[in-house]
Amino acid sequence: MEVPQVQKQKQHQYTLASVSTIVSSSSSEPSASPIVARFSSDSGFAELRFEPESGPKVATGYDVRTTQLFKLSPIQSICISEGSEKSEEKTYSSGVTIQFRNEEESRAFHCAFEQWKEEAVVQGSHLPNGVVSSSKCKFDDKIEASSAKMYFHYYGQLLHQQNMLQDYVRTGTYYAAVIENRADFVGRVVVDVGAGSGILSLFAAQAGARHVYAVEASEMAEYARKLIAGNPSLGERITVIKGKVEEVELPEKADILISEPMGTLLVNERMLESYVIARDRFLVPNGKMFPTVGRIHMAPFTDEYLYVEIANKALFWQQQNYYGVDLTPLHGTAFQGYFSQPVVDAFDPRLLVAPAISHMINFTTIKEEDLYEIDIPLKFTASVGTRIHGLACWFDVLFNGSTVQRWLTTSPGAPTTHWYQLRCVLSQPLYVMPGQEITGQLHMIAHNAQSYTIHLTMSVKMWGAGAEQGGILQTSSCKLDLKEPYYRMSQPQAYSVAQDQQPHQLLQTQDIQILSQDEEGSEFIQQPPKGSGAELH
Ligand code: SAH
Repeated sequence: MEVPQVQKQKQHQYTLASVSTIVSSSSSEPSASPIVARFSSDSGFAELRFEPESGPKVATGYDVRTTQLFKLSPIQSICISEGSEKSEEKTYSSGVTIQFRNEEESRAFHCAFEQWKEEAVVQGSHLPNGVVSSSKCKFDDKIEASSAKMYFHYYGQLLHQQNMLQDYVRTGTYYAAVIENRADFVGRVVVDVGAGSGILSLFAAQAGARHVYAVEASEMAEYARKLIAGNPSLGERITVIKGKVEEVELPEKADILISEPMGTLLVNERMLESYVIARDRFLVPNGKMFPTVGRIHMAPFTDEYLYVEIANKALFWQQQNYYGVDLTPLHGTAFQGYFSQPVVDAFDPRLLVAPAISHMINFTTIKEEDLYEIDIPLKFTASVGTRIHGLACWFDVLFNGSTVQRWLTTSPGAPTTHWYQLRCVLSQPLYVMPGQEITGQLHMIAHNAQSYTIHLTMSVKMWGAGAEQGGILQTSSCKLDLKEPYYRMSQPQAYSVAQDQQPHQLLQTQDIQILSQDEEGSEFIQQPPKGSGAELH
């Protein structure tokens, strides 16, 4: 997988503003060269040394396994060591005060320290005082800082929270799921994982929660405080904690978690991992999770208009005389580029050419690491003969309440949500006959920009002469970046169909109609900043 693994490195180095010993009252001699803190395993064990970046290496070495690091202020820490394991000294023999150049570097140093310690403890089976939480810096380790910055900047803005609040299908279903399951909330401790505006915390308080901890990493935490303070009868039972769920400490365990961690195709934004980490850190054994499970649904679709629209986007690059310049050398690249964008819009379920299959993710049991790579085998039986242009995907989540079970669905044909649906379009369509089997694979690999690279392969057995001899497949593959979708919302939207109709009863693929906008399908969305990683929750 593509996630960087800090632990694997054999050396780590951090430049510091200054270092002074605790025992002596005077600061260490000012050095002409900057002081660096260096983690290494050169001596055969994890060692932290403070030494000048250049010049003679007169340095103090600390055995990381027996060293403790405490934060005094955002940019000052204290490092105390019992002495080397080998020296057999069991007293705190020395310590230094570390002054960092800025908060960011302090945080990075603390992360590295915990990782080195964790690895050293695992390798040496040595348990220090207090166990270091392995999830502590997980977010920073696997997510690129620039991606996280844009992501939390996006969610720090009220307009984006409003966009989610105004998705009445979403917010209304959460409200119903909470209020109809009061029994799961009354007198209970709740953690709201990624609280945003604090709306779900307020719902939980309405349902009688004893206390709600609303954890939110973005600046939205301040607005949540304001909103909650303005609703004092509920607010007195809510505490807003600003920080990442991977890092914050809570004073007590939760009986139930509530969260809205779903992105496009369920997994985009990689917040499900934070939800799972929050479960492991905060939830009592057998505690409840709202939502409890999620399912990704998939079915092949036909959509000639969409295919032509995408292919045509690259036509620009077929000009041979663009101000005297031949653009054709880039046509192939542009063509592939457009097909690497998953399409986000609401489509008519009659475009589906086979009954959907689904992949279930149980939030109460899944391991965080299992979300790094998701592999879904595909197998469908075509209901009609047509051209298949790709794979359509949507998701739903279940609130498994003690009183009522409620599903929140983003299915085509159901009332539209701000997630819409997602389609992966093949640059090479496939031909199928009715009853023919379509096989393949949807392979999703998480990347450090809070999204996934999608590898889609779809195959059909060749029809006609030779087909019976077996094994002759017509295969089409594509690679897409879930982080770079094509929001197709300015197009007329498909209309919704009666809720009780089954998609495969509606297959009339030659009869594609794009009707004028209707009440449910015509919602236009604001396109998020490109590459913000914060498309739509
Ligand atoms: N619960 C709110 C907001 C949902 S959007 C609602 O339902 O309306 C998801 C929120 O989770 C965003 O505000 C985002 O900033 C926050 N978030 C995402 N990852 C987080 C993490 N690791 N720790 C804390 N907050 C996080």
